Amino acid sequence: MKKHNYSAGPCILPQEVFEKSAQALLNFNNSDLSILEISHRSKDFVAVMEEARNLVLELLGLQNKGYQVLFLAGGASLEFLMVPYNLMKVNGKAAYLETGTWAVNAIKEAKLFGETQIVASSSDSNFNFIPKNYEIPTNADYFHCTSNNTIFGTQMKSFPKTNIPLVCDMSSDIFSRTLDFEQFDLIYAGAQKNMGPAGTTLVVVKEEILGKSGRTIPSMLDYQKHIKAESMYNTPPVFPIYASLLTLQWLKNKGGISAIEQKNQAKATLLYNEIDRNPLFKGTAAVEDRSIMNATFLLHDENHTSIFDKMWKEAGISGLAGHRSVGGYRASMYNALPIESVQVLVDVMQALEKAV
Ligand SMILES: *Cc1c(COP(=O)(O)O)cnc(C)c1O
Repeated sequence: MKKHNYSAGPCILPQEVFEKSAQALLNFNNSDLSILEISHRSKDFVAVMEEARNLVLELLGLQNKGYQVLFLAGGASLEFLMVPYNLMKVNGKAAYLETGTWAVNAIKEAKLFGETQIVASSSDSNFNFIPKNYEIPTNADYFHCTSNNTIFGTQMKSFPKTNIPLVCDMSSDIFSRTLDFEQFDLIYAGAQKNMGPAGTTLVVVKEEILGKSGRTIPSMLDYQKHIKAESMYNTPPVFPIYASLLTLQWLKNKGGISAIEQKNQAKATLLYNEIDRNPLFKGTAAVEDRSIMNATFLLHDENHTSIFDKMWKEAGISGLAGHRSVGGYRASMYNALPIESVQVLVDVMQALEKAV
């Protein structure tokens, strides 16, 4: 039986994406060739890339607004350095919001390129909230934030207004909720949280912000070179891009982001209501900053750990253990997780309450 997969990433994808991907491994588009053996420059794959790019812009509402879409390799972590390489001027500076481990890693890379100002941080409280009311320096080359903190279960509900380019790591909540995506100048996201398998990273960038850093950028790290080559400067990760396209098609058929957002909201409400109601559990993130993608929670009494772990595993749940830096539990409820899986978890939490 299929597990109720709460893994934080790589994570659950729609079942039909698994099935269609499996089919393409054997016979892609009735070509009698596997997707793994065709040229990335073949007509069929160029069409995949084009459709994926267009679907990203369509779903985000960014068509004809000066944005370019890239599917790169290297993971979101490579964007931690590509962003400053492309956007931070020589002797310039960048501003960062420090809301979790991924932001810390992004800041570490930016420091290799120049002055990196942390405008606000929640590190003193193990990143259990999103700082607010900070000031963004107007003389920085860009401001970088993380929309959803996968490890700590916090999520930005609004984004600051600023006249400098706004860069956002949306790895773990892209395509999960409606936002005015036009407020961002550069969005990046590793595929493996909400878009597809690991191996490709989505970059959506407003073209006008590029080419201003005054740096000599190595070709493979240069957004403009990748744009010019339509994400085929070198061999792109063909299969992850194809599986991402299938996921984007699935999302569009489901009614797009606003439709999935309602489902995500319903799943999160169901689980957080139980975390708050059930006297055995407590949430670890500040209530107003709770993520609708990753819910982090603890057992009040650690003595209940082994029985709870046994119960959820027996119920067919997988991937519920919290990140080692937070402990406890983390329920990642990405787009493809059905609400029925959340109900199974809630039922187990209620059964634990009765059992102890
Ligand atoms: C997982 C994650 C990353 C790292 O992604 P990789 O593709 O493994 O480099 C970066 N940022 C956020 C918010 C993440 O959730």
